[in-house]
Amino acid sequence: MDDLQYQLDMLKAVNNKISESERMYKLIVERASLSFIYYSVEKDKYFSMGAFQRFFGFDIKGPKDLDRFFEFFDASKISRIKEIFFSEVFSRNEEAIDVLDSHGEKWYRIICSKIYYGDVLTDKVIKVIDITRDMSRSEELLYMAYYDSLTGIYNRNYFITLLDGYIDRAKENDEKVAILTIDINDFKKVNDGLGMIIGDEFLQQFGGYLKEFQCDRVIASHLSNDIYCLGIYNPYGEYSIERFIEKIRKRLEKPFKMSSGHEVSVCVSFSIAEFPDHAESALDLINCADIAMFKSKTMGNNQIIYFDARMLDEFLHNVDMENKLNSAVLNNNFEVYFQPQFHSGTKKLRGMEALVRWRDEEKGFIAPSVFIPIAEKNGSIIPIGNFVLDNAIKQLAEWEKKYEIDFTMSVNISAVQYKRDDFVDSVIEVIDKYKVDPQNIELEITESVLIEDFEIVTDKLIKLRKRGIKISLDDFGTGYSSLSYLMKMPIDTLKIDKSFVDSALSNDSTHIIIESILNMSSNMGFESIAEGVESEQQYNYLNEIGCNVIQGFYMGRPLPATEIEKILDSKTEV
Ligand code: C2E
Ligand code: MG
Ligand code: MG
Repeated sequence: MDDLQYQLDMLKAVNNKISESERMYKLIVERASLSFIYYSVEKDKYFSMGAFQRFFGFDIKGPKDLDRFFEFFDASKISRIKEIFFSEVFSRNEEAIDVLDSHGEKWYRIICSKIYYGDVLTDKVIKVIDITRDMSRSEELLYMAYYDSLTGIYNRNYFITLLDGYIDRAKENDEKVAILTIDINDFKKVNDGLGMIIGDEFLQQFGGYLKEFQCDRVIASHLSNDIYCLGIYNPYGEYSIERFIEKIRKRLEKPFKMSSGHEVSVCVSFSIAEFPDHAESALDLINCADIAMFKSKTMGNNQIIYFDARMLDEFLHNVDMENKLNSAVLNNNFEVYFQPQFHSGTKKLRGMEALVRWRDEEKGFIAPSVFIPIAEKNGSIIPIGNFVLDNAIKQLAEWEKKYEIDFTMSVNISAVQYKRDDFVDSVIEVIDKYKVDPQNIELEITESVLIEDFEIVTDKLIKLRKRGIKISLDDFGTGYSSLSYLMKMPIDTLKIDKSFVDSALSNDSTHIIIESILNMSSNMGFESIAEGVESEQQYNYLNEIGCNVIQGFYMGRPLPATEIEKILDSKTEV
C-alpha cells in the first residue's frame, strides 16, 4: 500500500512539473513576436502557435487554413511561399522569404525548417516574423543614402551617381552636361544673426526652390552646408545655364519667408563646369566647379565664374606650395634675415627689420609675398611667426651684448597673429625670456588689419605699448587709412611704402603727397621711415624733406645674421 502511495505521489509530482514547464513554454511562445506553423508528416496534422492568432486572426488546423495563410500575402509571392513550404527536396538548411501582406502594409519573414530522421522527413516548422519595423528602417536608410535629410533634394553621393548617368548618356549622343554650383554668400551671418534653426529652414526652403527645376534634364543637389548644385543635361535654350542663373537671381530679389515670420535675403556666387570641355566624370566636374568657386570667392560676391584650365594650374600650384610649406614648417626650413635701417641725418644705425626667408630644396628661395598669404590661410603663419619673433629677439639680445649697442628690432606680425587671444602674452613671454628692453622691440602692422578689427586690435596694441613696445604702421599709403583713423591709431612709427619712394622724384603729385605725409607724421609725433630706398638721390631727397629713417637696398639689403655681424664688426672696429 505504502509502495502504491509512493508511486502515486511521484506521478503527481512529475505531472506538476510537466504542466509547469508547459505553461512556461506556452507563455513564452505566446508573448514572443514570432508565430509558428508546425506540421507533422507522419500524422499529416497542422498546428499554429505563438503569436499566429495575433498576426493573422485565425489558427491553422488543416489544409484549408493553410490556403488562407498563403492568401494573406502579396499574390505575386504566393507560389514561392508554397514552393518553400511543400518542397520535399532534402535540405537541412532553412529557406526564407521576405514578403509584404496583400494590403502592402506589413512585412513578414517566412522561414521554413525541415526535420529529418535519417533521410526521412518527419516534421516541418514554419517561423513567421513581423519585420515591418526593420524594413521601414532600411527604407529610411535607403532614403538617407539618396537624399539630403535637411533639404530633401539629392545628396552629394547620389547626385554624383546621377550625374555620371547624364555623362554616359551625353557620351553616347555626343551632347553636353553642365553643372551650376550655387554658393550662398556669408551664410554664416544668417546662422549667427538669426540662429541655426532659421538657418536650417532657409537651407530647406532654398533646396525646395531648386527642386522645382528638376525634370528629366535637370537634377538638383545639396552638396554641403551652403552649397547647392544643378546638373543639366544638354544645357541649351530653355535649359541654358544663363536661364537658370537669371531665374535664381530673380528669385533672390525677394526675401525667403520663415515660419517664425523672419525674412531672409541672401546673395549667391555661381560657378560653372561642363562635360566634355572641362572634365570626363561627375566627380572631376564638381571639383572643377569647386576650383572656379574658390576663384569666384576671392573676386568678391555675386560673381559668375566659368572654370578654365588655368585655374586648375593655379590651384595645383597652390596645393603644391601648401604641401611644401607644411613640410617646411615641420622641418623648420626657415631663416631670418635682417635689413638695417639708418637715421637719415647721421647715417647711424637705427635698427633692423627681421624678414623671414624660406629656402626650398628644389625651388630655392621662395618670396614671403608668395608664401605668407598661403601660410595665413592654412594657419602655419602661427609657428612661422613665432619662430621669427623668437629668433629676432634672441638675435637682438645677442647683438646688444656683443656690440654694446642699443637699437630697434622690427618684426612683421601678420593679421592672423594679432587676432589670437594669446598674442599679447606670447610677445611678452619672448621679451622676458631673452631679457631685452621692450623699448627696443617694434612690431609692424599693416593698415588693413587695424581697420578690419579696429577695436580688438587697438586694445592689444595699447597693452603692448604700455609695456614699452613700439608699434609701426607698415606699407603706409597702400591701404585706405584716412587721417581721422590715423589719429586714433596707437602707433609710434609710420613706414612710407616703397611705391611712394619710387615715384617721389619723377611724379609731381607723389612729391606733394609724400611731403605732406611726412609733415603730418611729424606733427602727430610719429617717427617716419621710408622703405625701399634704392638710390643716393632718393636718399638725399628724403633726408631733405625730413624723413627720419631710411631703409632700402641703397643702405643695405636684408642679410643673414652672420653677414650682418661682419658689418657690425667692421663698424665697431673703426
Ligand atoms: P615689408 O614688411 O614691407 O618688408 C619690406 C620688403 O621690401 C622686404 O621684402 C624687403 O626685402 C624689401 N625691400 C627692402 N628694401 C628694398 C629695396 O630697396 N628695393 C626693393 N625692391 N625691395 C626692398 P621681403 O623680405 O620679400 O618681404 C615682403 C613682405 O613679406 C614684407 O614686406 C612683409 O609684409 C612680409 N614679411 C616678410 N617677413 C615676414 C615675417 O616674418 N612675418 C610676416 N608676417 N610677414 C613678413
Ligand atoms: Mg615690414
Ligand atoms: Mg613694408
